[in-house]
Amino acid sequence: MVQATLPADDPTFEGLVLELAGPVEVGGRIVATGNDDLLWHGHLTARVAGDCRRCLAPLEQMVDAGIEVVYSDNPDLQEDPSVYPLDARATVVDLSQAVREELALLVEPFPLCREDCAGFCATCGADLNAGPCACTSSGTTN
Ligand SMILES: [Zn+2]
Ligand SMILES: [Zn+2]
Repeated sequence: MVQATLPADDPTFEGLVLELAGPVEVGGRIVATGNDDLLWHGHLTARVAGDCRRCLAPLEQMVDAGIEVVYSDNPDLQEDPSVYPLDARATVVDLSQAVREELALLVEPFPLCREDCAGFCATCGADLNAGPCACTSSGTTN
């Protein structure tokens, strides 16, 4: 069984261009695949802080996803982005690299505060979530 909570300031996440709003939790189980590889049948939850890409309002993004990670010492498989190197001499599997990379893949790089966020007016810069601005009502419809 895998069950771990990594604090937001864990060195695992150093250098990632995302801002964690809380600890990252991972779970699941690691099973042997039969050809000396290990499969992490995992689960990852995290809260990531960010700004709405349309109106720049601060928001929090929930990440809650299943992950499938293969650990293999087969050099032919290392090209596959979901395959991580397995040190045959190691007695414990280091999950941190996989956690870091899977998290980076799961985070929406351009989040929206809500599905129908109106964003800013391209002309006057008004926040259209607060209501229509002068340019939309005076009309540029001709
Ligand atoms: Zn927004
Ligand atoms: Zn406007």
